[in-house]
Amino acid sequence: MLGIMQDWQLTTDKILDHANRIHPDRQITTRRVGGEIVRTSYSELYNISKQVSNALIDEGVGLGDRVATLGWNSARHMSSWYGTMGIGAVLHTINPRLHPDQIAWIANHAEDKVMIFDTSFLPIVEQIKDQLKTVKTFVIYADAATMPANNLGAVAFDLWIDGRSTVSKWGDFPENTACGLCYTSGTTGNPKGVLYSHRSNVLHTFLTMGKDAMGMGAEDVVMPVVPMFHANAWGLALSCPATGANMVMPGAQMDGASIYELLDGEKVTITAAVPTVWLMLLTYLQENNLKLPHLRKVIIGGSAIPERILRAFEQDYEVDVIHAWGMTETSPLGTLGSLPPHMLNADIDTRMTQKLKQGRPPFGVELKIVDDENNELPNDGKAAGKLLVRGAAIAAGYFKGDGGNVLDDNGFFDTGDVANIDEFGTMQITDRAKDVIKSGGEWISSIDIENIAVGHPKVANAAAIGIYHPKWDERPLLIIQAVEGESPSREEILASLDGKIAKWWTPDDVQFIDEIPLGATGKINKLALREHFKDYKLPTA
Ligand code: AMP
Repeated sequence: MLGIMQDWQLTTDKILDHANRIHPDRQITTRRVGGEIVRTSYSELYNISKQVSNALIDEGVGLGDRVATLGWNSARHMSSWYGTMGIGAVLHTINPRLHPDQIAWIANHAEDKVMIFDTSFLPIVEQIKDQLKTVKTFVIYADAATMPANNLGAVAFDLWIDGRSTVSKWGDFPENTACGLCYTSGTTGNPKGVLYSHRSNVLHTFLTMGKDAMGMGAEDVVMPVVPMFHANAWGLALSCPATGANMVMPGAQMDGASIYELLDGEKVTITAAVPTVWLMLLTYLQENNLKLPHLRKVIIGGSAIPERILRAFEQDYEVDVIHAWGMTETSPLGTLGSLPPHMLNADIDTRMTQKLKQGRPPFGVELKIVDDENNELPNDGKAAGKLLVRGAAIAAGYFKGDGGNVLDDNGFFDTGDVANIDEFGTMQITDRAKDVIKSGGEWISSIDIENIAVGHPKVANAAAIGIYHPKWDERPLLIIQAVEGESPSREEILASLDGKIAKWWTPDDVQFIDEIPLGATGKINKLALREHFKDYKLPTA
């Protein structure tokens, strides 16, 4: 027997539709690339997004076509999201911090038709223009006055939408229709695309709004410092209009002074970013003897929270820290670290120890840990195993079938993280099985670095591992086993990487060892290497 309820399809256009009806005057405050502050109400955002839809339709974009953005957090960027998703096209957020060749590769793989980007990224787009096989239209977030000269035949965003109708049909397609695409380079090989559906994004929005998750309401002022180009700004571009919370978009400036200026000036109540951003802010606050009277909650994730950041927020500034874990593949929120009720009155050290863990899954996410034979391990807070996840907004595979089947027999996805789970369901990451380095919240592929380094004639084998760094969490160390009889210098090894990887991927140091340890299958034994270098300190730290 079927229930007799309305078949209200879960499509993301309904989120902005709701904000326009119920919260029309709540607003997004953007600091644009040029530094000026612009305010856009949700009703204005709604109209601009409709104009974007009409502009896209004129470019021949329709259901399933991909539209790429390379954008800082801004109201214009949000209108590109909703304008694209509303007509059933697929919003493809590209991470501009990747190497330009990788950006070109991703855009070609996604077959993007339109590319919309901030002026900051014009040099990248101009550099890769001849590699782009499918992009027909380039749009730059600018008006007539701020439009930069370019060799792309690009159009200024404000002129592109100017005078267009604010009426456009949105939705009216099945909720499983693709709506967003985000590539992750967190695993081996080429980046893989996670293809979100309208349904998964709407369900993710619901599950992140709860009190023990992000817990925002219409009275909040929320500042996503976490970028819209990496893991969907943790869903905030959807959950804020859904709740009617005001938004503050920091644009390109994420240094301590700029972030403080917005937190204080805009009376931000909730904010979210990776630990590196908070370290810069805390240093600035301490140096200038400043307080955070308006901020009530800071969500920190992407990498584990260092204890001093947690304690500074909680004890020096009385801000509630929510540690969050997630992945591009989990839309991205998987767990959040609100204190369980039985811990609310525990002593400070117990609460801090609890908050250093990655937290509990909201309803809609299931976790389990397994051993190497896929046997489930007990949730006793001690046994550590591969962390597997299943739920309403978790990837079932990658775009175009890349990577093959990624689910186990019960539909769980292997995160590549190693964790324990306690009897209250709190998860704690203890290690990482995947071979990558995360610096300032962004991935560095150890394998890409190794592949280039072994191309050097004096190098027999090469391994890149992540070493603790106080600002960036991890930075790469390159370990070299030289060809017998050769002794290459640190400088010539680093020079061989020059131009082939993004500048910020360059290892902070090179160390030489007689023999790089190999595992039983001939693969580099990274565990042994990490153990070998456990007391090593980077010269940059
Ligand atoms: P991404 O897909 O780029 O968002 O990266 C997801 C990965 O980042 C996870 O699989 C973890 O390895 C790591 N990660 C994210 N959040 C945390 C956290 N709170 N603590 C430790 N590692 C994290």
